[in-house]
Amino acid sequence: MTVVTRFAPSPTGFLHIGGARTALFNWLYARGRGGQFLLRIEDTDRERSTPEATDAILRGMDWLGLDYDGDPISQFARADRHAEVARQLLADGHAYKCFSTQDEITAFREQARATGKSTLFRSPWRDVPEADHPDAPYVVRIKAPRDGETVIKDEVQGTVKWKNDQLDDMVLLRSDGTPVYMLAVVVDDYDMGVTHVIRGDDHLANAARQSLIYRAMGWDLPVYAHIPLIHGPDGKKLSKRHGALGVEEYQAMGYPAAGMRNYLARLGWSHGDDEFFTDAQAKEWFGTDGIGKSPARFDFKKLENLSGQHIAVAEDAALLHEIEGFLTVTAQPALTDTQKDGLCRAMYCLKERAKTYPELVEKAHFVLGQRPFDPDEKAAKQLTAEARALLKELTPQLQNASWTRDMLEATVSNVAEAHGAKMGKLAGPLRAALAGRAVTPSIFDMMLVIGRDETLARLADATA
Ligand code: GLU
Repeated sequence: MTVVTRFAPSPTGFLHIGGARTALFNWLYARGRGGQFLLRIEDTDRERSTPEATDAILRGMDWLGLDYDGDPISQFARADRHAEVARQLLADGHAYKCFSTQDEITAFREQARATGKSTLFRSPWRDVPEADHPDAPYVVRIKAPRDGETVIKDEVQGTVKWKNDQLDDMVLLRSDGTPVYMLAVVVDDYDMGVTHVIRGDDHLANAARQSLIYRAMGWDLPVYAHIPLIHGPDGKKLSKRHGALGVEEYQAMGYPAAGMRNYLARLGWSHGDDEFFTDAQAKEWFGTDGIGKSPARFDFKKLENLSGQHIAVAEDAALLHEIEGFLTVTAQPALTDTQKDGLCRAMYCLKERAKTYPELVEKAHFVLGQRPFDPDEKAAKQLTAEARALLKELTPQLQNASWTRDMLEATVSNVAEAHGAKMGKLAGPLRAALAGRAVTPSIFDMMLVIGRDETLARLADATA
């Protein structure tokens, strides 16, 4: 059996962190098993669905690197097919026409409430033969079983049971003939050949109701895995303050997509004690057995930590590509060819300790900026008269030194020692002179990357 999973977002807003995780889980599950991962846009709610939201979802998936098979499927475009299934259920006696008006339903509920009975609507039309039907508007309702239990075997939640007298004869087709969402999901999943449904546990009760349609049609149920929602670090429902943002905002904060995937995978799923892993490992390891039963807690510290680790091991070309994307979404100027070149030469010493792209870009100022460097406040403080005298003394020594790390280290430390100082005494002023910043890669890395002429020119600028 080929595994087929899907991500089925409703395009009513941005792709938020919970949706992104659902997409990732389905992607990992399919990709790790040579299966297919499909995207379905659940745009049946015409009032709330917008093309902008669909675009945001597609952009978010693209940034996260969650590639799907084929084109996205529009649920709304399949409404005729959904209605066709409802009519088949009607023809087979698994559904019926209900002529009750809204007023009658309201009256039924009030009466039930007054007499302390269940307010689930019991339509009087369930068993009325066609011959006795009025010529009036009707909805199509499923003929749900009234006795026994509906059982969902869920990979995460275990076996979950509902008493059938708690499930109503839900509407399949509205009186204007349009299908309801619950029917659309089932028909789409069946037609798309979906074998595994991994989604938020806010859909668990829907699974019970949806299973009634599967059974009535004689279709096999997919394997269900309903995953607990994401909470904030305080254990409360995730809010904006906690990080319930669109994934594009994470891109704008400068997290690498690989770090984001790693972090999202760990939100509610685990593989032993592994925190940091590659996509290949995640695809190999991911399964529903590693999904926890309690809500995961969102934690920016962990995200940052993983983000830094992924930046450190990323290929330089991939980093450059993502940094360019980061600059675009944050409306910063695009890199010139010279800047790209400088960034690539410096990448080895930039990626070591940067947790996010803004940090990396800040450290890259010495290759992105141009002389004369205008020192920022912290850097300016380093360039005291005493410090400048030391830099002046260092300059001719650097002119003659061979340009290797060892020689540069020896040269700088000789000058420092001649003044009874440690090398650290010169590091601050050198950072200020070479980058105009206080946070930079090591002074020797900077000198090696920019070369002798540029180093001497920047020292001259700073001591002029
Ligand atoms: N469209 C639903 C949502 O965005 C998902 C439905 C499903 O996965 O079955 O919550």
